[in-house]
Amino acid sequence: MMNEADVTPWAGQEVIDCHFHERATDEGLIAHLDGAGVSGALVLAFGDFTARHASLAQTHPGRILGWARGAKIVPSDVDPEGDGTSAAFDMTSETTPDAVTQLRQLKLGGWKGFAETGGPLEVDSPELQRAYALAGELDVPVMMHFQATAAPGQPAYGIRGFSRIEDMLKKYPRTRFVAHAPDFWGGIDARYRDGGMYLLDAVVPGGLSDRLLADYDNLYGDLGAPSALLQLRRDLDFTTAFLERHRSKLMFGSDCGCADGQGTPPDAPAWPVATGAAPADAGAGRPAAAGSAAGDADRPAPEPKFDAQMAAAMQTAMMALGGLAGKCIARELLDVVWRTTSPETFHDLVSANARRVYALDS
Ligand SMILES: [Zn+2]
Ligand SMILES: [Zn+2]
Repeated sequence: MMNEADVTPWAGQEVIDCHFHERATDEGLIAHLDGAGVSGALVLAFGDFTARHASLAQTHPGRILGWARGAKIVPSDVDPEGDGTSAAFDMTSETTPDAVTQLRQLKLGGWKGFAETGGPLEVDSPELQRAYALAGELDVPVMMHFQATAAPGQPAYGIRGFSRIEDMLKKYPRTRFVAHAPDFWGGIDARYRDGGMYLLDAVVPGGLSDRLLADYDNLYGDLGAPSALLQLRRDLDFTTAFLERHRSKLMFGSDCGCADGQGTPPDAPAWPVATGAAPADAGAGRPAAAGSAAGDADRPAPEPKFDAQMAAAMQTAMMALGGLAGKCIARELLDVVWRTTSPETFHDLVSANARRVYALDS
């Protein structure tokens, strides 16, 4: 019997993963790319990745095409102590007057943008507007995790108010906004509202995300995480048309935490699996019948340190609850995109768009 993992129809093509969270070791980074049939990646780092980026360019030429760092990811991230966050990334404060100077320096070391940017913040908060303005000035994108409702037991690290992003798209026309996570992907359906539970039946056309992608040159979407995968799988006819309609606006990213690009769970502590808590993407990905996450929203949130190890643990829980245990999200996403697009559209979605939007060649 043929091993499913051996089937890699995109082998030999350029495939860029632009939602690839940092791993503890260089070998861990490359193992996931190799296992999933991915040629290169933009690393979403947890701190200043400049030195490691330079070292990887020597040891694994052409595999790591740049790195990014969110303007703000989780509440614990605000604490400048202990997590490697440089002051340049603390956009929650107006006390970083030389942010532009610092960020220009980081661009010389391979920094490509504010990714992944989270909350808890409103989409039009002063803090995020400062990040949008900086992104426009520096000519880098800002990739955002849109999720108004925290999953049970999880910190509320999503940005709220995706449905109000239109004002920001108008106000910051030079800024490239890259949307990701449940409220963006849920929004492909006309019935979806911010913070809702995913619908998994046939898509009702006319969703906000679909309209905004068509109407605004500066809005893009990230094809990563179970949030994208579950939505792309639910109605393949819709998916084919949606991917074709926005073939210059969507970019493959995996947000996969597996160890090897084959679905093997990472070697990481079981938090938050042991507490029974659902990770954000998976929680919102459950069908509505499974219950609402909102009922647990006022439970005190843990304040874990958000680093590579925790990201891996959250990814493990996400995969289990999304019905993806033992699967590599990168492979699953590439499979659905491969099956629903022409070779030309596939190339744009998995390679050309990422190179352009994140300016990977500059
Ligand atoms: Zn995210
Ligand atoms: Zn994987």
